[in-house]
Amino acid sequence: MHWTSCDATPTLHPKPQIHSAAAPSGTFKVQIETEHAADANYLRNALNSQVGEFIRLRRDIHREPELAFEEHRTAALVADKLEGWGFAVERGIGGTGVVGKLVRGTGPKRIGLRADMDALPIQEASGADWASNRPGVMHACGHDGHTAMLLAAARRLAEHGRFSGTLQLIFQPAEEGGGGALRMIDDGLFERYPCDAVFAMHNLPGLAQGQLMFRDGATMASSDYASITLTGIGGHGAMPHQATDTVVAAASIVMALQTVVSRNVDPQQMSVITVGAIHAGKANNVIPATATLELSVRALDREVRVTLERRIKALVQAQAESFGVSAAIDWRAGYSVLVNSPAETAFARDVGLELRGPENVTLQGPAQSASEDFAFMLERVPGSYLVIGNGDSAGACTVHNPGYDFNDDNIAIGAAYWMLLVERFLVE
Ligand SMILES: [Zn+2]
Ligand SMILES: [Zn+2]
Repeated sequence: MHWTSCDATPTLHPKPQIHSAAAPSGTFKVQIETEHAADANYLRNALNSQVGEFIRLRRDIHREPELAFEEHRTAALVADKLEGWGFAVERGIGGTGVVGKLVRGTGPKRIGLRADMDALPIQEASGADWASNRPGVMHACGHDGHTAMLLAAARRLAEHGRFSGTLQLIFQPAEEGGGGALRMIDDGLFERYPCDAVFAMHNLPGLAQGQLMFRDGATMASSDYASITLTGIGGHGAMPHQATDTVVAAASIVMALQTVVSRNVDPQQMSVITVGAIHAGKANNVIPATATLELSVRALDREVRVTLERRIKALVQAQAESFGVSAAIDWRAGYSVLVNSPAETAFARDVGLELRGPENVTLQGPAQSASEDFAFMLERVPGSYLVIGNGDSAGACTVHNPGYDFNDDNIAIGAAYWMLLVERFLVE
């Protein structure tokens, strides 16, 4: 998930219900303060003796972060653990992806739960004892925590899960821009592991620790990219009439592009066109023959996404022609709009309410202009992507910040959520 600034983080009321602290022995003592019987039972079960193991595991993964499609150590660790708990494991799906499958009883339904494993090219500055051992690489988006939460649930479900059906745990590579989800799908993920529904969970700093936030419909933006190369006739800065100036054309295009958002898209719809890079020329007295622009384009609606591409291409060509320069547009489709299906989101929300009670659940959170490749899975299988609050204490700002850290207090809650979701979904 990509959050572009602290402002993107919704701040809700901090109301932590669970406090954990490291006991001197190194084991973890957990105090539960909740009125919800189901919540307490599940958390007690999930936490007793096992949460310390998964906090240590999370920190181990955090120390050895791996970039997209290089998650060899992490994937091996995940696969070995799952095999040890009795899952049928397949490695190397879509590069370094792993799927663990556990069938129990005769229930006909099949559920897929997804965690991401990759880290980011960021130099860590968290100051944590378990900070990255690898220079310039860091788990700054909490994928170490997502992996640990799903593994904690996996062990508990294998040993004590009361379900009947097919449980499939999907550990994907390269969520951070590499499209690991799509690589796994292209590698036959859903042909080999058909799912009736898929779910994923991401942490969110600024949202109260342990708060679960749901949303149906469009939830995360599409993210596309365009490289525009303008070619004109270079010349002397003193004789512009003998040249065709790509700098003037580029400047005009930058301004004109903003009219696509303001004039071609329904004001009720979110859309973003950012020109993040513009390069032309080297000297004040030389008119450069070429100029390049790099665009980031986002939308929260599939039709708006199509409109943006169509209008950007038409406008760039017309603008270029009006200045007597040529334009070549390299359009690269990135992540799709992430759309949570209503029925599966309602189900996921009910499980959240059962586990955490209404005060710890946001029923319909805001949409985000960040993007997420779980969108590709949701284009093929209905399901829902939910958020768990990372609180305010861990990390300086938000995900992708060098000071960020995943909140270990969420491992038990996240694992308990996955357990209850599976037990409520996989019934006879
Ligand atoms: Zn991220
Ligand atoms: Zn992320």
